[in-house]
Amino acid sequence: MIQSSVSNLPSPADHSRPSLFVAGDRVAVLLPLPVEVPYDYVVPENLTLSVGDIVEVPLGRRFEIGVVWGLAKGEVDPQKLREIFQRLDLPTLSDVSRRFIDWVADYNLQAKGVILRMSIRVAKSIKPRPPSVILSLVKNLPDGLRLTNARRNVLKVLQSGSSQGIAQLAKQSAVSASVINGLIKAGAVRKTLAAPEPLFEQPDPEHRGHILEPEQRSAATALENSIGQGFSVHVLEGITGSGKTEVYFEAVAEALRAGKQVLVLLPEIALTSQWLERFEKRFGVAPAVWHSNISGAVRRETWRAVAESQAQVLVGARSALFLPFASLGLIVVDEEHDAAFKQEEGVIYHARDMAVVRSREGDIPIILASATPSLETIVNIEAGRYKHIQMSRRVQGATIPMVQVVDMISTPTEKGSWGRSWLAPPLVEAIEETLADENQILLFLNRRGYAPLTLCSACGYRLHCPSCTAWLVEHRLTKLLQCHHCGFAAPRPDKCSACGKIEHFVPCGPGIERVAEEAAARWPGARVVAVDSDTLERPTAMAALVEAMERRHIDIAVGTQVLAKGHHFPGLTLVGVVDADLGLSSWDLRAGERTHQLLQQVAGRAGRGREPGRVLLQTYEPGHPVLQALTQSDKAEFIRHEADGRRVLGMPPFGRLVSLILSSPNEQAVLQAGANLAKQAPQQSDLTILGPAPALMALLRGRHRHRFLIKGPRNRRLQPIIKAWLEDVKVPPSVRIQVDVDPYSFY
Ligand code: ADP
Ligand code: ZN
Repeated sequence: MIQSSVSNLPSPADHSRPSLFVAGDRVAVLLPLPVEVPYDYVVPENLTLSVGDIVEVPLGRRFEIGVVWGLAKGEVDPQKLREIFQRLDLPTLSDVSRRFIDWVADYNLQAKGVILRMSIRVAKSIKPRPPSVILSLVKNLPDGLRLTNARRNVLKVLQSGSSQGIAQLAKQSAVSASVINGLIKAGAVRKTLAAPEPLFEQPDPEHRGHILEPEQRSAATALENSIGQGFSVHVLEGITGSGKTEVYFEAVAEALRAGKQVLVLLPEIALTSQWLERFEKRFGVAPAVWHSNISGAVRRETWRAVAESQAQVLVGARSALFLPFASLGLIVVDEEHDAAFKQEEGVIYHARDMAVVRSREGDIPIILASATPSLETIVNIEAGRYKHIQMSRRVQGATIPMVQVVDMISTPTEKGSWGRSWLAPPLVEAIEETLADENQILLFLNRRGYAPLTLCSACGYRLHCPSCTAWLVEHRLTKLLQCHHCGFAAPRPDKCSACGKIEHFVPCGPGIERVAEEAAARWPGARVVAVDSDTLERPTAMAALVEAMERRHIDIAVGTQVLAKGHHFPGLTLVGVVDADLGLSSWDLRAGERTHQLLQQVAGRAGRGREPGRVLLQTYEPGHPVLQALTQSDKAEFIRHEADGRRVLGMPPFGRLVSLILSSPNEQAVLQAGANLAKQAPQQSDLTILGPAPALMALLRGRHRHRFLIKGPRNRRLQPIIKAWLEDVKVPPSVRIQVDVDPYSFY
């Protein structure tokens, strides 16, 4: 029986009241598996459950954990129902967390169970933490206590205060644990149990901050005032170097004062050594951290600390959004425009957009920070849905760098003794001036490795990946040709498989290793490094690199976007963009916007210290609107241009897109599935359905891929239409259909 008001049963989707379920009740339990709906179970004798409890249930021949999602619908034959095995001693999932999971699953057309999985994946292996053991000296030592040297050592240590745990005391007094156990038995040492030590130290909002500049102060005040005032979205738009981090730290401090937890989402967690350092300076301790590379034990402790409100501030990559926060009071999404927030493998969702939903469900404020907010966000500002806070000055009087284009047609590169050159004379000259001034240089090129393409100079055959529609990229560092999509790697062959000629393969185009080679050849005295995600594979590599830059042990850093974002290197005064056109031509609805954002970020690395900065963009298209916007710092004009283009086409954010990718190792099966879907495609006048057509990456990791793109008006919910469509159509079993709502990648 349900003990709460029986006359007014909650529907399974209604999580608004915590219900108590007792023996014999049928409840719906959502399992963290690819399931769309919860399964029904019976509550056994002697167990009382609430909605949100984490339980262990039998499933087939094994046990799974799951979450009580509500009352069962009662459609399952009672004979077939199985009993819940036990309730786990773990925090209950809040109403907000459960509503959020429901919402994310519905919106993104993903199975509810896999969203839950992101929330409770680690819960299964969490054991209750044992209490701390406190050891102290008794007031009066028992008569006749035999005192050995070892025992004396222990008593001496305890004279200066109690100690924690037998192992630790043994170590402190340089004796074995048996000596201490002996003393406890003899009644000389008292053992008491206390609540376990907190796992995370509490950040101190009053610890120490910079004195904010007037523009920063007024931005910070606006954000501070939102804490505790319910749901609101604040876009903190400030030029690079305007001190956005310190500003939102003030809102973090205010949430801490109110006793609330804070979640900070960063796009690339590996790049955060400087961020963590600044956090520690401001709040006295490190925050809790969440990303895919933390170890199992730390992960479990962090999960529990978040769920029990012991971790007050957590900084993480997108998956941190699904942690079961107990008392979340603020979310910050830094670099909100960054495409890394869109998860495109496995469970597909956009962490920035879902973070806004999480805030709305939790009725708390959210801050979206960026120097170049996404068009989606700008449209929301214009519609009055988001509040806008702007900062247009760099802190401490630093000036905005001067941006110029280098026209590669009128000033082409010249060949040198090392072979082809990638740096045109105006950039070479600027580098020389900067080296003479003993300042630092960043050469930006968003291409990993040595050369993006290798071809046979005799017949033109291009080396490509056997499992993907992609060229193999040469890496001199590892002496391998690699596919950046599937991880395939092989040494360069001697013989061309097409024409049989030996030793005719030549590299085409530059990657960062090749530009670094040129820089080292031109300026033998300069300290040159090449930096991409491959050279930064070890977790400590980034911190080491940042330190080397800060200490000026590097003169020229040639790097991909891993070097372009977020960093603050006061000695860096020249940024050279080796190929500003890269990315502009790609078939991607946001190509222009993304290139603008990335180049703005890169440019923003220059001149952040006392000396002014310069940025040179090498291009074959000096008139391109993206480059015009950068050189004339006319962002507004560029945004207007970009928005007009999309509005005319009804593209996001003025329309909606959903993409379907059908894939299978068997091409025939994909064609069949595409044809079946096309036959039953929804016929509605305001929808446009493109496809099926082979995807740009027609082959990826050995799977053939075809795609549909569905376009509809902004105010139309496409999800129910797609859902009904997919439910109706039969596809061969080997075909996987990936649904991507609001797609960001189109390959
Ligand atoms: P943004 O993210 O807007 O590019 P940051 O937040 O990285 O800028 O700030 C740039 C640098 O300026 C950082 O080293 C930061 O610690 C420093 N900074 C920010 N605000 C102040 C301030 N009010 N006084 C002194 N230094 C500051
Ligand atoms: Zn591949």
